[in-house]
Amino acid sequence: MTTTAASEASTRQIPIVDYLVLQGDPHLVANACASCGALFFDRRNACASCGTTSFEKKSLATTGTLRSFTIVSRAAPGVPVPYVSCTVALDGDGMVKANLVGVEPDPASIELGARVRLTTFPCGVDEEGTEAVAFGFTPA
Ligand SMILES: [Zn+2]
Repeated sequence: MTTTAASEASTRQIPIVDYLVLQGDPHLVANACASCGALFFDRRNACASCGTTSFEKKSLATTGTLRSFTIVSRAAPGVPVPYVSCTVALDGDGMVKANLVGVEPDPASIELGARVRLTTFPCGVDEEGTEAVAFGFTPA
């Protein structure tokens, strides 16, 4: 019990991408064009849709609908396969690519249009115990 408390206290977490926010309920944050509302996860000098140069941060929904998926059978050394890569249309606005987790990597067990929700999981730890946290989607 003491060991558990000590390890929890010493575990630091960092998101694997800077548009993943771990504080509170984990969620994604996009740069929304101040003029047309187009969403971008990376930093832009100008909106690719309308050319406006001002953006505001927008927190996105953690739930959405499975729009497409593919089962990945070959990957870089050290990456376990097969896994499911997918795109999710988030409720409200925003399209995001991520892994679909918590399902068999089999087309028969995945349904387009299924409701999914954001989930996070550790994907590596450095020598100092800092944990990298990735996100994916899982059936809601
Ligand atoms: Zn725009």
